[in-house]
Amino acid sequence: KSFEDCGFSVELMKAIGKQAYVKPTPIQCQALPIVLSGRDIIGIAKTGSGKTASFVLPMVVHIMDQPELQKEEGPIGVICAPTRELAHQIYLEAKKFSKAHGIRVAAVYGGMSKLDQFKELKAGCEVVVATPGRLIDMIKMKALTMLRTTYLVLDEADRMFDLGFEPQIRSIVGQIRPDRQTLLFSATMPRKVEKLAREILSDPVRVTV
Ligand code: AMP
Repeated sequence: KSFEDCGFSVELMKAIGKQAYVKPTPIQCQALPIVLSGRDIIGIAKTGSGKTASFVLPMVVHIMDQPELQKEEGPIGVICAPTRELAHQIYLEAKKFSKAHGIRVAAVYGGMSKLDQFKELKAGCEVVVATPGRLIDMIKMKALTMLRTTYLVLDEADRMFDLGFEPQIRSIVGQIRPDRQTLLFSATMPRKVEKLAREILSDPVRVTV
């Protein structure tokens, strides 16, 4: 398997080359074709596996494929992660691959000024990378709506549950249109995460590395 098989744009291939990603990691080999086909996925993988690129690269393709959505406001892609450190890592990875297509990525997590984040969201973005609590704060402040969100990623779902974010996750998912594509990544699949997956994913493909 190679990145060439994925049908990525010249710009995206250049960005991948710049990162010196020579060939896809095992999770990328399994997940990229599934996610690019538009299916929901449960990815059982740990940090260090290259899972971030397996949801960020198809997200860029997803956004480029939806020109009609680009007239509206609010993020097309929403990525939730348990901690600000992880959210920041994902933000950096998302920026690397979004830049070439002019896709704007906003980071929304604790430890940063709410006013600055409010302004950043108001200025407009196609992607939001967030911790659940701060994203809810921003929604309450009317910094964004998720009316045009069609690509949702829950990363490290087990850790988000451990940190008590289940109600926030459910609230966020409840505000996103049901015909979205949903991706759930988790290192482990405890019963509560399995239950959430059954409720919010449509006919998901399960991949394990
Ligand atoms: P992640 O598991 O997504 O946190 O990725 C772990 C590390 O692997 C990060 O530093 C990525 O930049 C890097 N990485 C992701 N995909 C590849 C790849 N295909 N080849 C080499 N490095 C990669």
